Amino acid sequence: MNGWEPVIGLEIHVQLKTRTKMFCRCENVWGEEPNTRTCPVCLAHPGTLPVPNKTAIEWTVKLGLALDCEIAERALFHRKNYFYPDLPKGYQISQYDVPLCSEGRFVVPGPDGDREIGIVRAHLEEDAAKTIHVGGAAGRIHGAEYSLVDFNRGGTPLVEIVAKPDVRSGEEARRFLQLLRQTVIELDISDAEMEKGSLRCDANVSVRKAGEEGYRTKTELKNMNSFKFVADGIAVEVERQIARYQAGEEVMQQTLHFDPQTGTIAPLRSKEEAHDYRYFPEPDLVAVAPPADMVERARAEIGELPAARIRRLEAEVDLDLAYGLVTSGRDALYARVPGDDRRAVANVLMNQLAAAGVDPAAVDGAELGRLVAARETIPRQTFLDALGASADPDFTADPYLAETTVSDAAALDPVIDGILAANPGQVEAYRGGKEGLLGFFVGQVMKETQGKADARVVNERLREKLNA
Ligand SMILES: [Zn+2]
Repeated sequence: MNGWEPVIGLEIHVQLKTRTKMFCRCENVWGEEPNTRTCPVCLAHPGTLPVPNKTAIEWTVKLGLALDCEIAERALFHRKNYFYPDLPKGYQISQYDVPLCSEGRFVVPGPDGDREIGIVRAHLEEDAAKTIHVGGAAGRIHGAEYSLVDFNRGGTPLVEIVAKPDVRSGEEARRFLQLLRQTVIELDISDAEMEKGSLRCDANVSVRKAGEEGYRTKTELKNMNSFKFVADGIAVEVERQIARYQAGEEVMQQTLHFDPQTGTIAPLRSKEEAHDYRYFPEPDLVAVAPPADMVERARAEIGELPAARIRRLEAEVDLDLAYGLVTSGRDALYARVPGDDRRAVANVLMNQLAAAGVDPAAVDGAELGRLVAARETIPRQTFLDALGASADPDFTADPYLAETTVSDAAALDPVIDGILAANPGQVEAYRGGKEGLLGFFVGQVMKETQGKADARVVNERLREKLNA
């Protein structure tokens, strides 16, 4: 960074998975036939009135408490006025100067200790409908022949979380988002799936000289739909801004699109003037005053937060494995698996068991512990088969543990000699310098022994015989 400091502010939208929409009784559901979940309220017919969804308010309070926010005693809904085809009312009901949750903080464990990211606010609003652009490149409006609107999403409850510009790298933004997603999932208020759009992230990016006060011009990276794209997009934009300043140029305020395929950044539109949304208090709704018992009930439902669990696990495994376990929800199983080699347990959970695609909640921790302890002494394929079956009811490790690898050279030598004798051409090529053929011979021995040979011993014996 040679003296430059990135300044990153994140805005995250989380779609709540309430049964019904925010201000009407339409079903709140994803992936249904377009325009089949609508009513006069969410289509903005004249004379209709909004009725707030109590569950959405309670869940927003719960999220606010998990973000260590202050909960407003009387929050207000405001109208945010703008015109777009996906907004039939001509305004969105949102929150403005008195949101439900404000002034919080979220702890993000990192390699250099805990980082505390300030939370400006978390407010509740209704989502716009979904516009689908047809005929253009990659569904973008530019070059499209026509556009369609699906009002199923219109009026669904959405929480917007605005973080202070405290994030200092793309990697830190990724960790923040992963932890926030896991928190939302454990609170059981959203699917929080980026590819479905139920978790969306925009990033405001600027840079400044280390020690500099205040902020320079920021750009906005819109709608990045995976954790990796967020981290990569921010890193590319930070580099671009530093290069501009170093070349004596300025950074323009604009909205940008990061193309993960090419790793490049292009402007969506320039944003020279701020929008004037003409916010005013929603005259059809009274103030929201969350009752004390609702707030206390929500507070009681918050368990130990992911960040705290990561810090605890980091002492046993490393930071990356701790993040992996907690943000995949596998740490509950990890805690149930006995064994002294904690890194081995964590690695099996994050790699082979994840690849086996079994439900961690259904796995018997004690039986899995026996498998992990025996992973060096049973054939690899047997180990993988056992993991694949480990979530079955009544699973026991016994039959798998009975199969041990053959590591006795005296038992393996005849097999190895037979393979070498059967492949004189390959032996000659190996001795002529084609050492990559070792893998071929190992494979043949494994095939002959049905995978039960100890790979380390086979490698050793083969090398010895081939180099003799
Ligand atoms: Zn409706």
